[in-house]
Amino acid sequence: MYHLSGNVVQQAAGSAAGLLERASADGDTLLFQRCTWCATAMYHRLLCPVCQGGDLRTERSEGTGTVRHATVVHRNTPAARNVSLVEMAEGFVVRGRVMGPLIGIHSGDRVRLSTVKDPVRGEPVFQLLDEPYRAWH
Ligand SMILES: [Zn+2]
Repeated sequence: MYHLSGNVVQQAAGSAAGLLERASADGDTLLFQRCTWCATAMYHRLLCPVCQGGDLRTERSEGTGTVRHATVVHRNTPAARNVSLVEMAEGFVVRGRVMGPLIGIHSGDRVRLSTVKDPVRGEPVFQLLDEPYRAWH
């Protein structure tokens, strides 16, 4: 099992003050890996998918991204939840959940990281940046 180590807290403490409402929360910073050879950003990989290099450095995401794919798991059940693939500004893709109405999340929606690991599933949770004012049909 993968566990985040204590240095995550130290790195989070250096993030821009004021942007995070819960600045004291643990681990509200998404870490990713960047290949030192070709600068490709990736998430939870051991080798670079582009050049197969294993020389990766860990960086901290700014926490904003764009929904690339959104699905509803167990539609029409009380446990229905949104599962989305979010492409972060740094260029890597994370699988997680976007808060809000299940039908209100679409590809292209901009989101911001809310929680790195939710207490139930341990997956990243995002919130929509844009209010859903546009007409869908
Ligand atoms: Zn590479």
